[in-house]
Amino acid sequence: MSTSVPPPDESTHFLHMIQNQLDRSARIVELPEHVRGILSQPKNEIIVNFPVLMDDGSHRMFKGYRIQHNNVLGPYKGGLRFHPDTRLDECKALAMIMTFKCALLDIPFGGGKGGVKCDPRSLSEGELSRLTRRFTHALGANIGPEYDIPAPDVGTNAKLMVWIMDTYMNTAGYTERNAQQRVVTGKSLEVGGSQGREKATAQGLVHCLTEWARDKGISLEGRTALVQGYGNVGSHSAMILARLGVSIIGVGDHSGYMLNPEGFNTHRLADHVRKHGSIEGYSKNHTATREEFFSHKADFFIPAALQNQIGEKEATLLQVQLVAEGANNPTMPDGEHILLQRGIDVIPDVLANAGGVTVSYYEWVQNGRNESWDLEEVEMRLERAMKRAYQRVVDFAHDNRCSMRDAAYSLALLRLKQVYAQRRIFP
Ligand code: NAD
Repeated sequence: MSTSVPPPDESTHFLHMIQNQLDRSARIVELPEHVRGILSQPKNEIIVNFPVLMDDGSHRMFKGYRIQHNNVLGPYKGGLRFHPDTRLDECKALAMIMTFKCALLDIPFGGGKGGVKCDPRSLSEGELSRLTRRFTHALGANIGPEYDIPAPDVGTNAKLMVWIMDTYMNTAGYTERNAQQRVVTGKSLEVGGSQGREKATAQGLVHCLTEWARDKGISLEGRTALVQGYGNVGSHSAMILARLGVSIIGVGDHSGYMLNPEGFNTHRLADHVRKHGSIEGYSKNHTATREEFFSHKADFFIPAALQNQIGEKEATLLQVQLVAEGANNPTMPDGEHILLQRGIDVIPDVLANAGGVTVSYYEWVQNGRNESWDLEEVEMRLERAMKRAYQRVVDFAHDNRCSMRDAAYSLALLRLKQVYAQRRIFP
């Protein structure tokens, strides 16, 4: 019988990366060991197995997760991911990231994340609806408007958030039904969503990129960018950057990659993806390999797909000045080391993609107060929040001679450290 330990799968490796990042920044801010220990694991790990009636009359079992990492700053908050590779450790890593993101942005939320192991593209609308509703039912009281508030992530969107909200509301008593609307954020506008939420993650990323360019004394007009992932974060980043004069000369998603030195029409491409589910078939003349995409010269690289996309190889290939992380943890530590050595700046995920949870918080506040803010108000608040966080991270990195990632995590830990110092550990 073999006694060898099987190698950790990719999601376990992902979790270890985030735990190591916690340890690095814990040393920088001299975080008490017991707080580091608390933050290195989630508080709650929920796994549910549930049946779904398929269109052919059969029943299929699905596995869903909800990880509640930490709620010392407020209710658990984080997305739901519908993807065939969704795993427990992946959700744990992503939930940890959420705790640090909310702490960095000074949002009164903790960190959570979850998802269902499934391929939403292979499901009919009816199957997706029954799966989403049955998953919500299986989670039961593990989510709630004052306790744990999901949002969209990879493979989920406003439509699914509305189904979750509706299912949750229908399980509540009549008198308190309307108070349950804010059990999820990222809803459509018509049923309680916020203006600006759909593009908020991308908008926040562009605020960071604009601040970076201002600090470098460069104009965005005439610059070029590569965007990996053309879903919510990728497509909106591309469209907002294009409006600022940046040419999107490379795009990629799960179906492949394309390069066009003239720049793509970002809106037309977004329409194509909405209709066909991917960039495939948009233009036969511009197809490229993943390696050609990564090695193409441009000013900015926006990873907006999945984690662990920039390892040693990709970091060596990239010919850009800046990586602005739209995705969560797209850059692996070895990759980041090479990027920084090569003088390529990295705006880390916990900062760069925090616009999404920031406007989710605004949505939750609006629902709670029965208010509806106009787009101008949301955008003004988001811009102020992002620019303030960006400046704090840059200043901390400068003062402590560390990377922006170390700085962002350290600032988040300082916030958590203060709260644990005052609240202490029960009893
Ligand atoms: P989405 O489902 O709308 O889009 C995901 C994109 O990634 C799609 O274009 C898909 O084709 C592409 N993709 C999937 N697998 C790929 C692969 N192997 N190679 C290349 N591309 C691949 O999801 P989204 O909401 O845009 O999320 C993208 C990333 O941004 C995720 O890491 C997510 O956690 C992060 N994020 C999202 C939000 C948000 O508000 N939606 C907020 C913060 C962070």
